[in-house]
Amino acid sequence: MSLTDDLYREIILEHFKNPRNHGKLERPDLTAQGANPFCGDELELTISLKEGVLQEIRAQGKGCSISQASVSMMTEAVSGKKIGEVEELAGKFKAIMLEGAPMDLPPELEDLEALEGVKKYPVRIKCAILSWNTLLEGLSAYRKGSAASSHVEGEEGSRPELSDQLTAQSASPPDKEAPKGESRQEEVRSALKQVIDPELNMNVVDLGLIYGIDIQGAQVKVTYTLTSPGCPLGPVIKGQMQGSLGKIPWVKEIEADLVWSPPWDPHTMASEETKTELGIW
Ligand code: ZN
Repeated sequence: MSLTDDLYREIILEHFKNPRNHGKLERPDLTAQGANPFCGDELELTISLKEGVLQEIRAQGKGCSISQASVSMMTEAVSGKKIGEVEELAGKFKAIMLEGAPMDLPPELEDLEALEGVKKYPVRIKCAILSWNTLLEGLSAYRKGSAASSHVEGEEGSRPELSDQLTAQSASPPDKEAPKGESRQEEVRSALKQVIDPELNMNVVDLGLIYGIDIQGAQVKVTYTLTSPGCPLGPVIKGQMQGSLGKIPWVKEIEADLVWSPPWDPHTMASEETKTELGIW
C-alpha cells in the first residue's frame, strides 16, 4: 500500500469517526433519504434552503465507513452554496468517480480526493456517491415543489468490463481433479468459487452468497442469495453456477435455490479477505 493510500484511509476514517454536520434539523425545508442496497448503507439528509442557497444540512444514517465518510465530506462541501453550485459540484464528483474525470476540486474540498482511492473497488463507488445522489434527488424534488425524496442506489456505475469478466471466467478451466467421498462438498465449493458476481467482481463463495450445499448422490442443491433483491444479474449468476457445477463429472442434477432470508450482509457473511477488498474495515 502506498503512502497516499494510507493517507486517504486516514482521512476517510477521520470523517467516519467524527462525522461533520451529524444529526437532524428540527424544521427542514427538505428531507432526502437514500439507501444503497449493495452494501446496506442508509442515510437521511435534512436541509434548510433559503433563496436558492443551501443554508444548513444535517445527516444521519448507518453504513460502511466509505458511505459515512462521504456523507460527512459532502455536507462540508455543500453548506452555504447555491443549489446550482451544489449540483455542479455533485456532477464533478460523480464524473471523477464514475468516468475517471481528472480531480480538479477547489482546495477547500480536498478531503473529497480521499474518496478517489475507492475507485479501485467498484462496489464502493456506490457507497461513495450515495450521499451525492441522495442530495441531487432531494434538490430535484425540491425544485418540483416537494419537501421529501427517497433515493435508492441502482444501476448507475455499471461497468463496461462486465462482459470481459464473464468471458474470462467462463474460459477458466475447472480447478483440480475430482477428489472423492466427503470432499465432494469441497469440490462443489471450489466450483462455485469460479462463479463471479459481475457487480462486485468477486466470487459468490467468498462474498458469503452461498447459504447451503446439499449433496444427494449425483444431485447437488445449492441454496444461495444475491446481494440485493433488485440485482439484475440473478440469471447471469445462476447460469454461471450451472455451467461451473456441470463441469464436475459426477454431478448429474443441479438445483439452484434462490432465497432472500436471511438477507445478505457483507459485514458478517463475507470472508475476511473479501471484506478487505470491499473496503469494509
Ligand atoms: Zn457502503
